[in-house]
Amino acid sequence: MSRKPIVGGNWKCNPAKLADAKALVEAWKEKGFDKEKVDVVIAPTALHLGHVKTPLEGLGMAVCAQNVGKNDMGAFTGEWTAAHLQDMEVGYTLIGHSERRSKYGETDEDTALKVEKCQEAGLKVIFCIGELLEERESGKTDEVNKRQLAAIIPKVKNWDLIVWFGRCGVDRGKLGLHERLFTVIAYEPVWAIGTGKVATPDQAEETQAAIRAYLKEAVSAEVADKVRIQYGGSVTPENCKELITKPNIDGFLVGGASLKPSFMEIVTAVQ
Ligand code: PGA
Repeated sequence: MSRKPIVGGNWKCNPAKLADAKALVEAWKEKGFDKEKVDVVIAPTALHLGHVKTPLEGLGMAVCAQNVGKNDMGAFTGEWTAAHLQDMEVGYTLIGHSERRSKYGETDEDTALKVEKCQEAGLKVIFCIGELLEERESGKTDEVNKRQLAAIIPKVKNWDLIVWFGRCGVDRGKLGLHERLFTVIAYEPVWAIGTGKVATPDQAEETQAAIRAYLKEAVSAEVADKVRIQYGGSVTPENCKELITKPNIDGFLVGGASLKPSFMEIVTAVQ
């Protein structure tokens, strides 16, 4: 099975100014990439997202929210819903990033509710999982990843969600304008995020193979085969080359290195 690689850029709470975000996208233009060979998804801050969406799409990249509410529309100050993202034509969101889990108290149950809302709205999800250093050191890595995945599995009614393009009134069946969406998983060992301490290619491969084996057991062989699993945590243009040679690494979720013009070297390394 060959899976199309997917590279995500998670800008987190950066850069300082909209002008810096625009300049970065402008710098990426010089390099270019083959969008037939790799999907590229960028998650700017919620404030910058609407301003860089068109230039990013012009480069063949998709935009992604960094978070989404578990609630419906209404009296939830500071939140937005999966349906809002869908309406704003933001096709993806991250869910369960370790910073949301550790700094904002997001629980497995919260991530499950968010995934459910995204399924209802037809939104693609990059679902982040991964263990803490002490969990790795005490041999609990696979257990933690399974627990985080087990929370969402019952909510993913459709791993290959079919999303139709076009608005009401179109005979969708005849036009066939649809896309099959598989939920993407980002394996991000917490000890590797923002620390400069990347997992070795063997460590990442071993863990990601275990994640795929679990999906086979808990969902189906077809889903396990098709779901793309990114590695995230201190990925750079240098270390990505060996990581991507591993069969269960289908791309990267990149934080710090996605704020630089050289991010495009990571994109082109996987294509
Ligand atoms: P990093 O972040 O590449 O800066 O380690 C990765 C992430 O948090 O997604």
